[in-house]
Amino acid sequence: MNLLIMGPPGAGKGTQAEGMVKEMAITHISTGDMFRAAIAEGTEMGMKAKEYMDKGALVPDEVVIGLVKDRLQQDDCKKGFLLDGFPRTVEQAVALDETLKDLGIKLDGVVNVEVPLDKLMARLTGRRVCRGCGASYHVIFNPPAEEGKCNSCQGELYQRDDDNEKSVGTRLNAYMDKTQPLIDYYNEKGVLKPINGDQDIDKVLTDILDTFK
Ligand code: ADP
Ligand code: AMP
Repeated sequence: MNLLIMGPPGAGKGTQAEGMVKEMAITHISTGDMFRAAIAEGTEMGMKAKEYMDKGALVPDEVVIGLVKDRLQQDDCKKGFLLDGFPRTVEQAVALDETLKDLGIKLDGVVNVEVPLDKLMARLTGRRVCRGCGASYHVIFNPPAEEGKCNSCQGELYQRDDDNEKSVGTRLNAYMDKTQPLIDYYNEKGVLKPINGDQDIDKVLTDILDTFK
């Protein structure tokens, strides 16, 4: 199955992606995680992306599109994939369509995780992420068993540089301006699956998995 998960920053895309790829045995492709890995490695691309990410701005389309094109051609995508955080602009969606056409594959569905925008600031400013495996926690809504430590890999939890009020404000504006139009884009293609993301994490996952049964 070849899927996309979309929704505003903080909707729970990464959290749900973790459960989905386990259950569906497909490959998770998060452009945000790819950029954070490039930053940790200190690559030129990572340093360039960081300038945009820290402010909460989108990384330029040509950078992201090239990255995803290469990633989709790797062997582990043959079993199916879940794109998380890409596409974020109509230009990226068009480029994805072209890439999939070239590869002779199609999108089976686009999960749109819906959460009222006024709930996202608290989700994002309380988020903690595992340095080891990238798993997402929340200091109140989804705390780890042991403070500061990942439940699955025991990695250290940290707060992302862009999970501050100023960056979150910019990211929400970028979402409304550039990414929200993709809801209509995929709805018109008949692949959009709206999911209520304002429920317990487990219930959201059950709803998503039921959609693809
Ligand atoms: P995204 O990848 O869409 O930006 P995350 O999956 O990282 O979002 O989730 C953002 C924050 O919200 C994290 O701290 C996560 O633990 C928390 N969260 C995710 N899903 C829910 C939910 N259903 N209810 C409450 N908090 C949630
Ligand atoms: P995320 O981990 O999905 O919240 O993404 C973190 C940041 O990475 C975003 O705020 C952007 O700066 C950048 N980013 C991730 N994916 C994309 C994308 N598809 N297009 C542009 N910028 C992206």
